[in-house]
Amino acid sequence: FGLKGCQKIRGPQIRSLLEAKDFFLFDCDGVLWHGEQAISGAAQVVSTLIRRGKNVVFVTNNSTRPRENYVHKFCRLGFTDVMLEQIFSSSYCSALYLRDVVKVRGQVFVIGCDGLRTELQDAGVPCVEEAADEPDATIYDCALAPDVKAVLVGYDDKMTFLKLAKASCYLRDPQCLFLATDNDPWHPLSSGRILPGSGSLTAALEVASGRKVTVIGKPSRFMFECISSQFRGVDPAQCLMVGDRLETDMLFGSNCGLDTMLTLTGVSQIEEAQEYRNSELTTNHSFVPDYVVDTIADFLPAFEE
Ligand code: PLP
Ligand code: CA
Repeated sequence: FGLKGCQKIRGPQIRSLLEAKDFFLFDCDGVLWHGEQAISGAAQVVSTLIRRGKNVVFVTNNSTRPRENYVHKFCRLGFTDVMLEQIFSSSYCSALYLRDVVKVRGQVFVIGCDGLRTELQDAGVPCVEEAADEPDATIYDCALAPDVKAVLVGYDDKMTFLKLAKASCYLRDPQCLFLATDNDPWHPLSSGRILPGSGSLTAALEVASGRKVTVIGKPSRFMFECISSQFRGVDPAQCLMVGDRLETDMLFGSNCGLDTMLTLTGVSQIEEAQEYRNSELTTNHSFVPDYVVDTIADFLPAFEE
């Protein structure tokens, strides 16, 4: 009682929050859609905010698609007025990090999907070719590229022991950076099953290399730095971060000084948020959302006159 955060809001409170903020950051899966199924009302919320002159951007830890491909997904699911410039994915931000922050000289060894490689290539970051030419290579005799300056781990549904072994070898060199697009542990599937996330692959490589990974996606601040540098003059106090996972989205908002909102259409439940709020451990308070709604469709009545 009397603790800050987890405020369940509705009608008039949502209306005044939407009026007070001018910059909205939306997580994608669990907030706008579940896989290929749009969440009812979400597209209308996004287009209304945009039409009313609000800034809207999307921050996703999903590294599997290049941004262009995301534009098509938004369109396909009914979000018809979303543009490339509004999309900040962990693969795009990883490419910016390698190109602009570390200015990597040499090649990047990528564990990830083709979409991640495409995003790096679009940014002019050279990647080690996948060894299609040596299908029978083993960890004992496979070729290692001589100039690998970073290992980047993303979601990879074709992860192999050979990739793990190569990456561990590259990471023996202390000059070789160890990066991950995101550290998500798992993702829910609509069937009720789960999908192991890139965090599970990174964990294996952390053990094998004895090193700690640097995360680019949420909850790291870097994604917000990418947004700030492309939308000049973003004031954190004017922003609302909307997400469904406490350990990534809410922590990301807290790390960047943004107000946060949990929607209950995804991974985290309100009970978990309340547990973090009631915890004696103050570091747990960074996971606590300022506001909670059942779904972002709850914004719709607030738009009515
Ligand atoms: N990475 C992968 C491979 C995913 O499938 C998902 C969600 O489906 C995510 C990350 C999380 O995406 P978001 O940050 O949009 O919730
Ligand atoms: Ca999500």
